[in-house]
Amino acid sequence: MPEGDTIFRTARALSRALAGRPITGFRSNYPLLTRFHDDTPLTGQQVDRVESRGKWVLIYFSGGGILVTHMLMNGSWHIYRIGELWQQPGRNMRIVLENTACQAVGFRVPVAQMHSAQSLARDGRIPQPTTDVLNAEFDAAATAQRLLACAREEIGDVLLHQEVLAGVGNVFKSEVCFVTGVNPFCKVADLSAEQIATLIATSKKLIASNVLEDSGDMIVTYRGQHRRTTHQSSPGESLWVYSRNGEPCRRCGDCIRRRLQGPDARVTFWCQQCQPMPDGHDIDG
Ligand SMILES: [Zn+2]
Repeated sequence: MPEGDTIFRTARALSRALAGRPITGFRSNYPLLTRFHDDTPLTGQQVDRVESRGKWVLIYFSGGGILVTHMLMNGSWHIYRIGELWQQPGRNMRIVLENTACQAVGFRVPVAQMHSAQSLARDGRIPQPTTDVLNAEFDAAATAQRLLACAREEIGDVLLHQEVLAGVGNVFKSEVCFVTGVNPFCKVADLSAEQIATLIATSKKLIASNVLEDSGDMIVTYRGQHRRTTHQSSPGESLWVYSRNGEPCRRCGDCIRRRLQGPDARVTFWCQQCQPMPDGHDIDG
């Protein structure tokens, strides 16, 4: 599943290709999208902007429509110059947006809907801009309040709740807990206000640092992105704990552990020495 940094890069690449230019072609094999286009043609409209919110990409059209897509596990947006060969078979195409210079192609995008500003605001699945760590409107204080409201849940699980804090996925969850020295199995109620604030600030910092460098690549896919949270740039040293079970901790040398966590059994990695449970607490289960 792509995390917030990947979706942010996708939105940025789509914005570069589409924003400020009129759409000259639209195709989709989703009947609801083509019906919308039949009633309110997207061709001739301009793309005003493209925004990421958590794991959603929002394309705003000048006519007021907003194309909202979610990639789930296998979807991706590619951007091609007109006439350039696609890197996926045509049968995987779900949406094409075209202007005079390029084509944006949504391959195997499993969720795609047209919204108005009103229906977008009402859709509880799409995070508000204030909850997305990469959004300019991100509100850390309000996020801390939402986190604290999940007092009985384990922090490693709560960091994945997109309605609490959008953008953190499974990789960053383990990395953020390690960097802040917080045990991912610790209940939110057992964390101090300062720890909560540090967790939020670290989430924002680590994810934002993964969208700084920009190759300007026109093609965006979800595979093979090199993500890092340490200051090391070589691929074998770029993460603190994620997917390193059995290997020595980069700080203390203890063995990195791995365990499934929460109702969805998401995999969590941590160092017991660097991330102890608070006094008197054991890891449940
Ligand atoms: Zn350690």
